[in-house]
Amino acid sequence: MAHSSTREISVSSNGRVSKLAFTDTTFSTETGRETITPQVSCWHNLFRRRVKIELIETSIRNVVAATCAKGILDVQYLVPRGKKRHLCLKHIQGTVNTDDERRVKEWCDALMDLAYQGVTRCKLLRILINPHGGTGKAGTVFTQKVEPILVAAGCTLDVTYTAYANHALEIARDLKLKYDAVVIVSGDGLIHEVLNGFAQHEQPERAFCIPIAPIPAGSGNALSLNLLGYEDGVDPSAAALNVLKGQQMSIDLFSFTQGTRRHISFMSQTVGLMADLDVGTERLRWMGEFRFVIGYLWGVFTRRTCPVQLSMKVVEDDKSRMVSTLQSRRANSTTIDSFGGDDKHPDGPDGSTDEWVTFDKPILWFYAGQGPYVSRELMQFPVSLPDDGLIDISVQGVMNRRKLLDAMEGAEEGRTYWTNSNHYFKASAYRMKPLGTRGVLVVDGEQLPFEEFEVSVHPRLGTVLSPCRQGCYAADFRVSDERGSK
Ligand code: ADP
Ligand code: MG
Repeated sequence: MAHSSTREISVSSNGRVSKLAFTDTTFSTETGRETITPQVSCWHNLFRRRVKIELIETSIRNVVAATCAKGILDVQYLVPRGKKRHLCLKHIQGTVNTDDERRVKEWCDALMDLAYQGVTRCKLLRILINPHGGTGKAGTVFTQKVEPILVAAGCTLDVTYTAYANHALEIARDLKLKYDAVVIVSGDGLIHEVLNGFAQHEQPERAFCIPIAPIPAGSGNALSLNLLGYEDGVDPSAAALNVLKGQQMSIDLFSFTQGTRRHISFMSQTVGLMADLDVGTERLRWMGEFRFVIGYLWGVFTRRTCPVQLSMKVVEDDKSRMVSTLQSRRANSTTIDSFGGDDKHPDGPDGSTDEWVTFDKPILWFYAGQGPYVSRELMQFPVSLPDDGLIDISVQGVMNRRKLLDAMEGAEEGRTYWTNSNHYFKASAYRMKPLGTRGVLVVDGEQLPFEEFEVSVHPRLGTVLSPCRQGCYAADFRVSDERGSK
């Protein structure tokens, strides 16, 4: 074994030599593979030996573990593979000269320090898997993609497959506070259960400080999309890496009150077309997220308006200003709220007070919540911030069928935001009373009685693991020239 620099070492394995190196941002392996090719031109040497160099380079963040024990160096890392560029676990092993072992261990330590950037290693994780979630493959997703990464990283896993609805809630309610994170292998429904379990915990404040890390294995994986982005948000391996490397990020949660019942909602409340399509396509669960597209087309066909009485404590209603706030947050990446900070919601930027305002135009659907994506097909809250202490409210006015179909294009980029028929508010609370009797109310993807309810914000109550800078979601709202063009 030889050292060309402290950051580069060579190891041998099965007669092959591999060079392993890292910089502040990348980790690479270079392995010489001998190939033997027949050659007809040279009668006394029918086979030609060549050394082909195989180079693999990946982000230093993708290094999961580097150890040296009993003369063997072992590095486990993730590399993007295939058309979808999903991460795939690889490892490289090689023999180390006993005299060099101490220096190789130092090399491993330096690599791990850069790969983990001060984040706790070898975590104790509570893992909840919903075998019923999505297309029913959560168990396979866990055993094939997630578990190998977490085990390679030296984590200790306490795993439960949920046996019935609300099982995860019960587990979260009684959760020991020793865990570094709760990993949820399912869709958003199980996250909703865990947060409501925390709310019933005997030490709720401390329970809410345990970060949640979603692994996308449901038909709605909005939290995963919002934290990891449009591509990584559907990659269970990228989500597993987030369990290892994510930073703790506070998020707002919502108090949802209906009659005497109170829930914690972390994502959304919706009535009208978007709620109908969620519940109406339950039987198409096997289709995965595509069921929502089918549901939307049905909604366009029926184009049923949804009579509601809506009143809101509006803090901001200017779309351009909301975009500016988002942009300055992205540029500065602070957790300080540009609308005034702290747990109170004082005057908005234009000095508007948060008085109750009513909205009484006819609507096709109402969506309130946080996190840009509500599904992969729809960026409903493009200007949402995780911890501004406000709830984003998007009210869709009536459109003709042609415009409804047009709205599908670019919906995943939040383009409907700029349309005049889309009314957008940031509020500290709202009240909603459905006026019809026939309808559906969906909260965090789960159906609740179609009756009057009220929502208020608990600023920064929840904790998640996030690969992004503090106070930002991964989703990128490309602020285009759509402004005013619709
Ligand atoms: P999806 O995105 O596919 O809907 P969710 O995580 O939202 O996935 O879970 C869907 C529902 O499954 C939740 O309402 C949850 O309460 C329920 N659930 C959890 N475990 C089970 C189980 N073992 N059997 C049936 N339902 C379950
Ligand atoms: Mg918010």
